[in-house]
Amino acid sequence: MSYSASFRCVAGCHGTYPLDQVIYNCPECGELLEVHHDMDALRNRSGSAWIKLFDQRWMTRDWPYGSGVWGKKEWVQPNLREENVVSTAEGGTNLFWAERYGKTLGLKDVWIKNCGNSHTGSFKDLGMTVLVSTVKQMIEDGKPIRAIACASTGDTSAALAAYCASAGIPSVVLLPKGKVTTAQLVQPLANGALVCALDTDFDGCMAIVQKLTNEEGIYLANSMNSLRLEGQKTVAIEIVQQFDWQVPDWVIIPGGNLGNVAALAAGFDMMFELGLTSKRPRLCLAQAEKANPLYRAYKQGWDSFEAMTAEATEASAIRIGNPVSVRRAIRALKAFDGVVEQASESELAEASAAADRAGSYTCPHTGVALAALEKIRAKGLVEPGQRAVVIATANGLKFTQFKIRYHENEIPEVQSKHPNKPISLPSEFEAVKAAVFKELEARAT
Ligand SMILES: *Cc1c(COP(=O)(O)O)cnc(C)c1O
Ligand SMILES: [Zn+2]
Repeated sequence: MSYSASFRCVAGCHGTYPLDQVIYNCPECGELLEVHHDMDALRNRSGSAWIKLFDQRWMTRDWPYGSGVWGKKEWVQPNLREENVVSTAEGGTNLFWAERYGKTLGLKDVWIKNCGNSHTGSFKDLGMTVLVSTVKQMIEDGKPIRAIACASTGDTSAALAAYCASAGIPSVVLLPKGKVTTAQLVQPLANGALVCALDTDFDGCMAIVQKLTNEEGIYLANSMNSLRLEGQKTVAIEIVQQFDWQVPDWVIIPGGNLGNVAALAAGFDMMFELGLTSKRPRLCLAQAEKANPLYRAYKQGWDSFEAMTAEATEASAIRIGNPVSVRRAIRALKAFDGVVEQASESELAEASAAADRAGSYTCPHTGVALAALEKIRAKGLVEPGQRAVVIATANGLKFTQFKIRYHENEIPEVQSKHPNKPISLPSEFEAVKAAVFKELEARAT
């Protein structure tokens, strides 16, 4: 059976463009493009036959189908030849039952989908494998591509650099100088990317990379390129698969450029349309208060979206004031009875720390999503019997300074409620024993 997909305008203009054409916007109206699958061809299998196929491939060594993304290849990039897949066995990340954390909210069924437990430590791997694989095929087919470029708040560049290095394709990364963590800066350097640190913010880098990729031979890897969203949508399929094909009631996701929430919705839509599921979850998009243009638009009844200049936030990967995918995000949230919440610096830091005390190790963006869950729970939108899944977008290990500063009580605008510092002691048994018992006593109360 032959499946196929092509680019189409999100605003509904008529043209269709092959996935291996270098094109990011609709030539008629300038809007973004999205990947459109031949759904009739995909209907040749029933919902239960797709489930059977996906379960057969799940986490196997059958390359590349053991990858969480490529196990769904027919739904992701059917036009890709197997030999061009550039994979790090992405996806298949653990779904953590945050039992103790959930209890503090009066919920029994809170789960954290740990997308940060991935090759480069964020969900960006899910999309980058699709984009870089497609470019590899374009190069094999003789397209004149010299390099792949992106603007990044830190995680896109880490993923791009790793997949490009793995494929032997040069990568170019534009980062806002001083606004990504040390770990995120080191990642593309280690992978041999050409790294440019620009004296601007993410939105400034984004404007320049769009011009750079209008030049001949430099391909754009930001999420305005919909190939990435095709990989990212598999997170929805994985979550449902990990619950034995049951759809949760709520999914909470942090958003910056807003591609990922659109991808999440696309994954749920596709499962519903192809008969694997019989309902959609509600979605909650979570923003940092310092970078909250979508929250503001939501509060105004969606009518008036206005870009803003995002301020500094610990959730640096979502410090974006002019999100490229705003239109598709609004469309997705409307279709999924969605809500938008925001988190202050204090709220995101405390939520992250609370989840950590219950066994997670969350990044600040996951803290934003957890704080949003706490708010929609307090408002009664999430009910006690309901199942909620929080998307953890990156690995907490990339954000060591955020953790250290929380526990040192040094984050601006945050008065840390539960700092935990090491106790310095001499190397003497009696002193250690006294300190341990004293501290256990103090912590028990
Ligand atoms: C990229 C990123 C986001 C935001 O995803 P968008 O698609 O830009 O909304 C959230 N968290 C982390 C850790 C990220 O790297
Ligand atoms: Zn158009």
